[in-house]
Amino acid sequence: MIDYRIDADGIATLTIHVADRPMNVLNHASIAAFDAAVKQAIADPAARGVIVTSSRPEFVAGGDLDLIRHIRTAEESFAAGGPFSRTLRTLETSGKPFVAAINGSALGGGLEICLACHRRIVADDPKIQLGVPEVTLGLLPGAGGTQRLPRMIGIKAALPYLLEGRKADPAKALEAGIVDEVVPAAQLLERARAWLLSDGAKSVVKPWDGKHFKFPGGAPQTAGPTQIFFAAGGALLAKTQGLQPAPEAILACVYDGCQVDIDTGLRIEQRQFARLATSQATKNMIRTLFYDLGEANRLAGRAKDVPVRKFSRVGILGAGMMGAGLAHVSALAGLDVVLLDTTQASAEQGKAYGAKILDAQVARGRLAQAQRDSTLARVKATTEYADLAGCEIVIEAVFEDRAVKAEVTRRAEAAMSADAIFASNTSTLPITGLAEVSARPGQFVGLHFFSPVEKMPLVEVIRGAQTSEATIAHALDFAKRIRKTPIVVNDCPAFYANRAFGMYAYEAMTLLGEGVNPALIENAGRMAGMPMPPLALIDEFSVELLHKALKQARIDQGSAYREQPQDAVMEVMVEQLGRLGRKVGQGFYEHPAEGGKRLWPGLATHFPLAAEQPTLEEVRDRLMYAQSLEAARCVAEGIVTERDADVGSLLGWGFPSVLGGVLGQIDTVGPGRFVERCDAMARRHGERFEVPPALRELAARGGFYRAT
Ligand code: NAD
Repeated sequence: MIDYRIDADGIATLTIHVADRPMNVLNHASIAAFDAAVKQAIADPAARGVIVTSSRPEFVAGGDLDLIRHIRTAEESFAAGGPFSRTLRTLETSGKPFVAAINGSALGGGLEICLACHRRIVADDPKIQLGVPEVTLGLLPGAGGTQRLPRMIGIKAALPYLLEGRKADPAKALEAGIVDEVVPAAQLLERARAWLLSDGAKSVVKPWDGKHFKFPGGAPQTAGPTQIFFAAGGALLAKTQGLQPAPEAILACVYDGCQVDIDTGLRIEQRQFARLATSQATKNMIRTLFYDLGEANRLAGRAKDVPVRKFSRVGILGAGMMGAGLAHVSALAGLDVVLLDTTQASAEQGKAYGAKILDAQVARGRLAQAQRDSTLARVKATTEYADLAGCEIVIEAVFEDRAVKAEVTRRAEAAMSADAIFASNTSTLPITGLAEVSARPGQFVGLHFFSPVEKMPLVEVIRGAQTSEATIAHALDFAKRIRKTPIVVNDCPAFYANRAFGMYAYEAMTLLGEGVNPALIENAGRMAGMPMPPLALIDEFSVELLHKALKQARIDQGSAYREQPQDAVMEVMVEQLGRLGRKVGQGFYEHPAEGGKRLWPGLATHFPLAAEQPTLEEVRDRLMYAQSLEAARCVAEGIVTERDADVGSLLGWGFPSVLGGVLGQIDTVGPGRFVERCDAMARRHGERFEVPPALRELAARGGFYRAT
């Protein structure tokens, strides 16, 4: 795993190659091998200096999460994280010069190795990333990252790397002081050798191990850093509502650890690491954001016997908000795009949407002009169906109207090649019904993207009654090709994401209709960790949209339609008041043109406050549990798998990652307790809180993820 070599000049080279894993990762075996190699180099009298490098494209990709996933106790955490931290401290204080020759990305524990070395030289390759992104999975860099980085570059400069998981390319890392040199890749080892043989390598005591260490940017107790801690703590709380233990633990490591000597700081870091590694929040994040998301991105559920389909040309019908975004992400992924609308001007307008995004990136120096031009050149704006010839897939994103969709389906299919797929991006119309006009319903599928397409990573692949398994597999291939995360959903009204997420909006309106203080509703949503309070969110996509869906449901279901508690609230807002949402400047909030929205005081007139108000916890549970229950119903009905339900909730509507997803919440609350609370809510508030029998049985068996 670690190759140890020494040359005639006494330069030892430790080359990392974790052969049994697809990438260099740090786990029990590789850490033990690294420790042995470091000790060998230190003990070797012939070794005057040591180069640490890798023979893989990456330097080290990070810690092996399998190691952390199974940690249950603080002792297990100390046993998992402690030895590596101690190895790096041994390396640092050995008196022998160690230089990191960073040939590829060094992330997490990989960068921590580099930070412990006495010099860092990185290959001049803009694709190389350096960072400690542990926070994004609810962890902290537990091998000195929280201690060495602030001591090297100062607290203020270190915090974005530690708290937000920011990554730097070699040029940025040099500017920030994270590395000492950026050199052409071919000269990397040679330059590392040259430094080890130079005078610079003669004394290798780290500044913080010297007598007169001055903290860059000021010591933690001084005015500047104190202000930084106040500001960072406040900003963090505002952003996370105190629900994210990882950034808080990191801030504590930096604050406490930087007031003491580094050895004590490293012990503080280990303790905070153990707190996180044993926490449910971190386990939830790792399960859903790493393992389950990884499986979804690898298309784990895809039929294995269907050959992978390559895509080079996509047709998009309708160049509105969704079509334009789809054209942009497809072109960015290297596909040729035919963007069709009823007039050339509308089609060109859709293309201009992508141009605007690309231009902004060029202006910010993030994209080369030539790349912008070639991306845009891939998009052909047109009104001609004949241009769809040669497309492997055509996606319609025209008006949400059955007749319009039927017409474009017929015209497109007439122009498409026989084996091409037709996909609908409808948000509400069941796929099986839309496929009725198709001449080849087996090749008709739903691809439900989210708005704005270029930012939202999820796509629901909707299986209609006649959609073939090969079409589903190819739709998944397409999603991967345009770098979206797909989940597979069986056809039903509203599909999965909008059905479960919709409960958040519906419950908020129900609460308002009952006379619950709107500020209480909004704060409960915010404090539960949802990305936006519910009434504010409804204003964003407009109450009118939900009201339209209500009217459609009444038409579709006729006398079978059962009035829901939120229906009356929508009617007041849309029909009586015309307060449709942000697009008209008024909804549950007032949205003045100059910005700065506030809850509309008139709500009190139309939805008078009840004399008795529920507690914050009651409101929060109603808003949050309603979503989990609907998701559990979807799983029980076979609409979606458990894994896709949780991944979909995080990526599709920003459900709090600390809960591991909408089903993860049930396990986190405790399945028994969740069922009990829902039973009580069903008695008080109605059947929407009734627990589906499958969930009751599952709760009795211990929940969704009892094995992880
Ligand atoms: P939009 O009104 O912005 O765009 C629709 C476009 O289709 C317009 O440019 C229109 O000119 C064009 N069009 C209409 N009839 C056409 C025809 N016969 N031939 C060719 N082009 C035609 O709508 P949108 O928000 O982009 O939504 C499009 C579809 O995507 C709808 O089915 C919608 O339900 C769905 N969707 C929307 C969202 C969202 O948040 N906006 C999210 C997911 C799915």
